[in-house]
Amino acid sequence: MRRTIEIHPAAPPKPPLGEPCNGCGVCCASEPCPVGVLVSRRRHGACAALVWEVQGGYRCGVLVRARRLRGPAWLRRVAARLASRLIAAGQGCDCDYEVEPRH
Ligand code: SF4
Ligand code: SF4
Repeated sequence: MRRTIEIHPAAPPKPPLGEPCNGCGVCCASEPCPVGVLVSRRRHGACAALVWEVQGGYRCGVLVRARRLRGPAWLRRVAARLASRLIAAGQGCDCDYEVEPRH
């Protein structure tokens, strides 16, 4: 099934499945993960938590917020670790979509 998703023109190309995540945003711009479903309150379309950063490309807003929580450093660490685990961050690209750039 073909779908069209909107991606920032400066986003890096999607790496192959299993390669390190480069923040291309294809997965989260396509559909939300289980955490993203809760945050976005929808099962389809781009995740509402997806954020674009000039330095670093697409980021998970849930993780970004967890890292910026107010409070002691240990709380930020715990929140970030929990968020990372929930969204399976740092485990390589788990998205098997084939991307065809629109010309
Ligand atoms: S998991 Fe894959 S598709 Fe998703 S942002 Fe990372 S590299 Fe891109
Ligand atoms: S990883 Fe973060 S931005 Fe991506 S779909 Fe899940 S909650 Fe949304």
